[in-house]
Amino acid sequence: METTLILLKPDTVERGLIGQVIARIEQKGLKINGLKMIQLDDAIIAEHYDFLADKPFFPGIQAYMKRTPIVALAVSGENAIATVRVLTGATNPQEALPGSIRGDFGLTIEGNIIHASDSAETAEKELQRFFRWQDVFEYSRGIDWIL
Ligand code: ADP
Repeated sequence: METTLILLKPDTVERGLIGQVIARIEQKGLKINGLKMIQLDDAIIAEHYDFLADKPFFPGIQAYMKRTPIVALAVSGENAIATVRVLTGATNPQEALPGSIRGDFGLTIEGNIIHASDSAETAEKELQRFFRWQDVFEYSRGIDWIL
């Protein structure tokens, strides 16, 4: 069983889409193990997007990601990391397929709704970045036996 990190970005909060995006994750059968709202600052944004630091659009990402608080989720399930990336869709919402979260809710790459870890190594690092271990909960659900 894998656990992955999801962030619901400020445009999702501003547009009142938190519930609709979380519903997609729950409908898929994935389990929410951690959930919280956080106000990001420049330091954590720079750490999270360090691989984009030299891109011309990096200042825009910094301004975007701290415009409002974001919602962070720790989400688990079989093959959860790749599965959540499929649910998320392509980085640019104009290329994301209908049915994906970015495909259905996003219009521009500057407001692409959601972040999801892209590998096991990244997921581990990102979960530690946004959650203390005691804020990620292991528990059983009635539906787990059929998933
Ligand atoms: P993903 O979020 O799909 O894993 P990347 O890791 O390539 O995609 O990029 C991280 C984030 O940086 C994107 O989700 C998006 O918010 C932002 N971003 C990437 N490319 C651009 C771009 N060309 N213009 C503006 N923002 C971008």
